[in-house]
Amino acid sequence: MIQRIRYLFTGIVQGVGFRPFIYRLARRHVLVGWVRNDSAGVYAEVEGIPSHIADFICDVTKTSPPMAEVHVAQTWELPPRGEPGFAILGSERSPARKAAITPDIATCDNCLAEMKNVADRRHHYPFINCTNCGPRLTIIRDIPYDRQRTSMACFPLCPDCQQEFDDPANRRFHAQPNACPTCGPVLRLLDRQGQEITSGGAPWQEAVRLLQEGAIVAIKGLGGFHLAVAADNDHAVQTLRLRKHRPEKPLAVMLPDIEAARRYAHINTEEERLLVSPQRPIVLLRQRPGNDLAHSIAPGMDTVGIMLPYTPLHHLLFADGFLTALVLTSANRSDEPICLANREAIQRLHSIADYFLVHNRDILVRCDDSIAAVYAGEAMLLRRSRGLTPKPLPLATSFPPVLALGAQMKGQICLLRHDEAVISPHIGDLETPLARDFLRENIDLLENITECHPDIIACDLHPDYYSSQAASRMTANTIIPVQHHHAHIVSCMAENQVTDPVLGLAMDGTGLGTDGRIWGGEFLLTDMLSFQRLGHFRYFLLPGGDQAIRQPWRTAAALLFSAFGAAWQDPARRLSLLPMDFPAPALHQMIERRVNCPETSSLGRLFDGVAAILGLRGRVSFEGQAAMELEASAGKGKGVNLPYEITKEGTVFILDCRPMIRALVDHVFLGASLADQAASFHQTIIAAITDMAGKIASETNIRRLALSGGCFQNRILLEGCLASLSKAGFTALRHRRVPTNDGGIALGQAVIAGSRMKKEGSDEI
Ligand code: ZN
Ligand code: ZN
Ligand code: FE
Repeated sequence: MIQRIRYLFTGIVQGVGFRPFIYRLARRHVLVGWVRNDSAGVYAEVEGIPSHIADFICDVTKTSPPMAEVHVAQTWELPPRGEPGFAILGSERSPARKAAITPDIATCDNCLAEMKNVADRRHHYPFINCTNCGPRLTIIRDIPYDRQRTSMACFPLCPDCQQEFDDPANRRFHAQPNACPTCGPVLRLLDRQGQEITSGGAPWQEAVRLLQEGAIVAIKGLGGFHLAVAADNDHAVQTLRLRKHRPEKPLAVMLPDIEAARRYAHINTEEERLLVSPQRPIVLLRQRPGNDLAHSIAPGMDTVGIMLPYTPLHHLLFADGFLTALVLTSANRSDEPICLANREAIQRLHSIADYFLVHNRDILVRCDDSIAAVYAGEAMLLRRSRGLTPKPLPLATSFPPVLALGAQMKGQICLLRHDEAVISPHIGDLETPLARDFLRENIDLLENITECHPDIIACDLHPDYYSSQAASRMTANTIIPVQHHHAHIVSCMAENQVTDPVLGLAMDGTGLGTDGRIWGGEFLLTDMLSFQRLGHFRYFLLPGGDQAIRQPWRTAAALLFSAFGAAWQDPARRLSLLPMDFPAPALHQMIERRVNCPETSSLGRLFDGVAAILGLRGRVSFEGQAAMELEASAGKGKGVNLPYEITKEGTVFILDCRPMIRALVDHVFLGASLADQAASFHQTIIAAITDMAGKIASETNIRRLALSGGCFQNRILLEGCLASLSKAGFTALRHRRVPTNDGGIALGQAVIAGSRMKKEGSDEI
């Protein structure tokens, strides 16, 4: 008996060598039929003996290509047709676009081996790729994923490449970006006027020589330009910082391989897995003391962000062994999105970069490097972008289409469709016109690749965020503002596929609360529709509002005011807290009369203020700097538990840290070390959070927690809370695939808006 079955495969099945895989599998199991890409996924019809078909479908799921994620969405039994063989058919466009586009994939070992082989026709070719590796999202103009809809369309295949492309037995069979030195993109080295520099060697060899001499070279990568300097050249790194207006924020380093990475940092198994993964994120690692990285790469930090090469060009830069480590940072001025096109790069970067290593394969989608770290043994993405975008996240339930525009910092948007969420590349802080244009680009990108134009828009409650203003200008039917910390907690629930209520611990920088104050140390009884605030850190003042974020001495003064009352000026003077140009009486008046002094319950700001009280720093050059340095100090110290108080106002528990502030100040005067004080502060906050959760749980009986918010990027805080909460009998959800910082906000907003619309819809029935 002969059977014929049609399958619809969905998931990640395009751009990962899935069709050739099906082709080879069908032939191995003596089946006839065809396979083709479609906007809905991949369709295959197979015909043969039923036991062969059974073996075939079993192998499809068991032995699929490394980057594929296969779901059998639907099957149909059909009458046999008796065709002679098995064929790969051309793509067909259908109105229902469901096909997932794959993220960009790091160069695979087979391609690397060819690139190093002198006899290979792609020896030292910077654009080598195959069905298992190479550019994907960043070269896509439209779906379905086919060469003519990518930026490779203008490179007709040469006969050799065409043959590989057509041969089902070849590992470049239907590899859309396939290319070689004869037919593919070429590399060029330009000076800042855009004039080509030619020398005896290849452009990348000349670039290596210039980097060795200390030059800043803008390098066209996968999702945009990087600025590169030799990482052992402190002068070059400092010049880069100066020109980029990025005085202290840590820079990422690229090292040739995992062995090199081990010489610079402590690396555990999970960290190694991340470093060598095809996604190749920047991984935050604990630095080994005494390495030869320039001091100015990550001043004041005990960690360093390291990544391994992920394009053939990166590998070439290390090929001759002249460079040992490269600083590689997104090519942009501070707060602007990463550069994309050659002309744009030269225009925007000619005052930063000395040279430009460019090529003629267009980048169509901007995509910054992803950032990951391992906390309590498990990976956590701190920035979800290149290598991961636009891989959809599976959700526990289905939603109507929603577009969520995120917050103001670390912008990222999210589109919900059915039971999936697609998160955009990292956009950055929405402070500049360029970043704002990039937000618009990302809306188009998500709507285009999902072919979905949601009528429901979610945004932050804060009316001044650019994202909120953009939402109000859109022509959608429904705009749903969502409270910032509600969104944080639901984002954590959503990625963990949890729908039952949790007690959410939102430990964060700042977000507008429903009482008009600035929240950020919140204990929220949360479900996907709404939340109830059951506890928070006691309010303190932020003298000067946003200025306090850049000048933590202001917050420190306000904390002293709250802890010591009118007598705060004495400890402030002894701590030499206030800058010369801001006398204590002036600040006192400001605080006393509450002029431009919003109230906040933010743990992030408490970290800043305590860092300033402990003499770490009174000013920061990027958000979170003081807190990060406080964490680095705490790692070297030994802490004790400091006092705090929990009181109740109505139904709300208040965590009062004034006793802790008084104790910290006493200890400073007694000469306690910064490291020990920092450790005590972390330890006390962890104990107090656990205590608060316990008190609230004894009333609500909810033992499941969700941890979210920017403060949980702090390793000591997250690992400490996980251990202490688990000891107290709680189960705590944490982030893994979605950032715990504001990059994760859009997912939470989308799920909340989607849930509310779903509920409204069901009420009508
Ligand atoms: Zn490859
Ligand atoms: Zn070719
Ligand atoms: Fe936040």
